[in-house]
Amino acid sequence: MFRVHSLRWRLTAFYLGMLSILVILLGTAQYFAIREVLLRSNAEVLANDYSALLNAFKKAQQTRTGTTPTTPIQRLLLTSQFATALSSPRIGVVIIGPAGAPRAQASATLTPEQPPPQLSTEQYLAALRGHPRPYYLAPQGDPATTYLTVLIPIRVSGGASPLGLAQLSTPTDGIEQNLRQDRWLVVVGSVAVLLLALLLTPLIVARALRPLNQVARTAGALAAGDYQQRVPGTHGDDEIGRVAQAFNEMAGGIEQAFEVRRQSEERMRQFVADASHELRTPLTALAGYIDVLGRRDSVDPETLQSSLAAMQRESGRMTRLVTDLLTLTRIESGRGPTLRPLPLDAWLAGALDELGLQDQGVTATRRLAPGITVNIDPDALKQVVNNLAQNALKYAPGAEQHWTCFAEGSRAAFRLEDTGPGISAQDLPHIFERFYRGEKARDRAAGGSGLGLAIAKSIVEAHGGTIEAKSPPGAGATFTVWLPRVGGPAKSST
Ligand code: ADP
Repeated sequence: MFRVHSLRWRLTAFYLGMLSILVILLGTAQYFAIREVLLRSNAEVLANDYSALLNAFKKAQQTRTGTTPTTPIQRLLLTSQFATALSSPRIGVVIIGPAGAPRAQASATLTPEQPPPQLSTEQYLAALRGHPRPYYLAPQGDPATTYLTVLIPIRVSGGASPLGLAQLSTPTDGIEQNLRQDRWLVVVGSVAVLLLALLLTPLIVARALRPLNQVARTAGALAAGDYQQRVPGTHGDDEIGRVAQAFNEMAGGIEQAFEVRRQSEERMRQFVADASHELRTPLTALAGYIDVLGRRDSVDPETLQSSLAAMQRESGRMTRLVTDLLTLTRIESGRGPTLRPLPLDAWLAGALDELGLQDQGVTATRRLAPGITVNIDPDALKQVVNNLAQNALKYAPGAEQHWTCFAEGSRAAFRLEDTGPGISAQDLPHIFERFYRGEKARDRAAGGSGLGLAIAKSIVEAHGGTIEAKSPPGAGATFTVWLPRVGGPAKSST
């Protein structure tokens, strides 16, 4: 169940170790505190007994000798008479003189033949100087009995310095018994606490660490390719909960990244398949012509001419396709266009002039709003104008082309409206897809590679813009290219 190096085991061992040290320290501290309290309170009882007995002794002396005492009370207090008055079956008394030497004693203690214990002269002298300790512990006899001893300065009213010391000693056996019971309680209590901790700690630690185990299991599943795995359950706001939460977020990110990669790979596969398919058609046609010509012994000039013309058409189609593919790849894998701010109307006019639409017999009108600045790569965007114009020429032959540019809020736009047959509702949602050719354009003589609008879309999006197509029934096709505008919103729009 436990692996010695597991975090669970180490946490449990650490916790139990700390708890044991704490219990031992607390038990010891409590034992000594109780011992001190007991000794001090017993010492106080002895001191109180002394005061009561001193008063009783004085009164007894006065009653015995009348109002005028024959022996001064000062002297009586240093005699064995006073010592006997102070002693009891459990209290032994020694009277110490002003020089620190014992003067008298009364030895009625536990064993009457045993004299009360004595302290060192230094201790007596220190007490006489006014520094008695609250209590002393003195061993006496064989086997040694420990006595709780107090030193009380003997004073009579008005006396500045003590006449001597009364040393009261009582055996500590009663206190020891109390302490033994206390020690026993502390030991039993501590063992019980430690046993309980030994039982509960592994369970508590295991419960706290459960999310970490789940994180490890989930990480294993992720590594094995199951990107939908998550650390189950709700996670608290503690460190481990946050680890589980962060792990789930990371797993979500990985899943998303893999999904994006999968889709991109899928798109790439589709693209390669479409491109191969598109290339195969003209290649097959070329191979067919070559085969036919090769089989004949002699070819009449007319057939030769028409075959060569057809082969030229097919190779031209292939060249256009390859050029379009290269353009698309360059835009999508390139570093993006080099933008510079330009007036939209002047740039569009220049691009349209270069196309020479009028020379091709097209009726082209322009309504170009001035004062609109856009950030563009002029050459890249010219290809968009070109593709739109060429499409209008191809799919709306003889139709008029109306070119406009305008601004709407923070956006600028240029638009081409033609008066051709328009785009069918069926084609409209797909015309920006790669290799998509509309119904009518599938006639390969008129249609292109199906990449023209895909290229236009890629270029516009690289500028941070959008391109849209509309074709209301019977009203021709309209293409609008939206670009982010440089500067404030326009006041006028078309
Ligand atoms: P291609 O390179 O073959 O011309 P495009 O991506 O440029 O392909 O255009 C996709 C399709 O959109 C065309 O096959 C055609 O059906 C349709 N189309 C584009 N422009 C027009 C237009 N001005 N009028 C009618 N249809 C159009």
